[in-house]
Amino acid sequence: MSQEIERESMEVDVLFVGAGPATLASAWRLAQGVEEHNARVESEGGVPIEPPTILVIEKGAEVGDHMLSGAVMNPKAIKELMPDHLERGFPVEHVVKKSMLKFFTKKYSFGPPQFATPPQFYKNGYYVVSLNRVAKWMAEQCEQAGIEIYPGFAGDKILYQNGRVVGVRTGDMGIDREGNPKPTFQPGMDIFAKVTVLGEGVRGTLSKQLIQDKQPEGMNPQVYETGIKEIWKIKPEKHQPGRVIHGMGWPNYFSPVSGMWLYDLGDDLISIGYVPMLDSDSPFNDPHLAMQKFKTHPFMQDILEGAELVKYGAKTIPVGGLYSQPKLYVDGAVLVGDSAGFCNAEYLSGIHMAMKSGMMAADTIVEALAQQDFTTKTLGGYTERYRQSWAWAEHYDVRNFHGSWEIGMLFFFLNQPVRMITGGRGLIDEIKFKAGHRHMKKLSELPPGKRQKEEFVFDGKTTFSKEHLVQFSGAAHEPDQPSHLVVADTDLCRTQCKEEYGNPCESFCPAAVYEMVDDTEKPGETKLVIHHENCVHCKTCDIADPYQVITWTPPEGGEGPSYDRM
Ligand code: SF4
Repeated sequence: MSQEIERESMEVDVLFVGAGPATLASAWRLAQGVEEHNARVESEGGVPIEPPTILVIEKGAEVGDHMLSGAVMNPKAIKELMPDHLERGFPVEHVVKKSMLKFFTKKYSFGPPQFATPPQFYKNGYYVVSLNRVAKWMAEQCEQAGIEIYPGFAGDKILYQNGRVVGVRTGDMGIDREGNPKPTFQPGMDIFAKVTVLGEGVRGTLSKQLIQDKQPEGMNPQVYETGIKEIWKIKPEKHQPGRVIHGMGWPNYFSPVSGMWLYDLGDDLISIGYVPMLDSDSPFNDPHLAMQKFKTHPFMQDILEGAELVKYGAKTIPVGGLYSQPKLYVDGAVLVGDSAGFCNAEYLSGIHMAMKSGMMAADTIVEALAQQDFTTKTLGGYTERYRQSWAWAEHYDVRNFHGSWEIGMLFFFLNQPVRMITGGRGLIDEIKFKAGHRHMKKLSELPPGKRQKEEFVFDGKTTFSKEHLVQFSGAAHEPDQPSHLVVADTDLCRTQCKEEYGNPCESFCPAAVYEMVDDTEKPGETKLVIHHENCVHCKTCDIADPYQVITWTPPEGGEGPSYDRM
């Protein structure tokens, strides 16, 4: 149908897909860069750049709605982008004064004194932020600089001409669950651009297409963690502004490797997170359950005593590092932020890398506009800039972090000091690893005690079911539309997957979207029901499914979670 209908189209010079820290930093820097170029031309001579039309589209109903992050932010990039960001009202919740590292056993927690906190966990001077508020603030700065922002528009398809990216088609709206147009039908629009900047976040739909289409063979795949985040209102006497705790251990000691965070927001809120890797051998790897169990630890019970849940959400994090990064540019397009794997996983820090990637892309696009050349010849300057930057140096230093884990815990701890004294090289350089879902073992390969889902009783005070928690994500989707979770073969779910893996989608999805129910038409059999309206857009299913038959696609623009304050 989408091929036959008439569509509106528009042309801009530069199109940004997604309104996050990478794209908004990029759009703002681009507007600045053109002004600086033209000022230089005026004093030194040369060809000025016609002020470009810059458009940002965002799938959330409002900018920031889909923003979620641990959000203890290294201020390096924002200081470089806008030295006067504090005067402009950049929304800092607190500046970190007390960094702590903790190890958790089932009953106890312990860690080094602050002066001995390893550098990866020492965050004093960093900003504690709500990424939702940061994105909103950055969008305001962009609009003041003349940049157009259209929330509620999801990029659905990359537009190509002669192999070159020429823009993006936004998603159709008003289609019923059978795929027929409703009276409210609105066809998506074709937005043509000289350069398209894809910054859709982790595992973006368009970025995934571009990476698959253009990626050189033989490189490491991207690998991911899923972070579960909750905001709680706590008793005032337990609130410690400027405190940041990172930790590891119980309930997931090693498989999968998991981390946690806790920091204080505002006057009476805390943000807590538990973050398991998605490379577990268990089909029952369940980030939501791990988080609920973690909150039963005595340390957490003490903090949460008398507290009230405010918000719930989930997000995947790209942690493969430098050797997993895709090619950053093609003719007519560049990738930035999480979509391009900009994340320093060892230092638990990604926002500053995302912003810096956007800034480097913007400087490259200024050059492309000056030369009116939008091919790889000019856009390749993005990689050159990256290689000269602190972002590259940071990524290079931790290039074998994930690979060391992949070899094993013992190797990781042996390799750690060697990596530190060899500038990140370690005992082996460019450690190869496989995609997370390829670690999952079949039930028959697991010890008998690990072939069942774990039973856990939620207490309804500090621990809750997925169905309950998803109400705190603000997730909303029109029920009468095709599911945006596309399962290529649902027969596989009730036959092979049930037998081989015990339907891991019911475990790894943190929002109870996938449910195997009794098939009333086929007694004795089950079938998959997809509760797409619960989806919090974390992309875990697209990543962790062992058969890789689940594809996350954007629902109608404006739908999804509403991560106010996350
Ligand atoms: Fe995340 Fe997929 Fe579940 Fe949506 S359906 S919440 S993207 S795992």
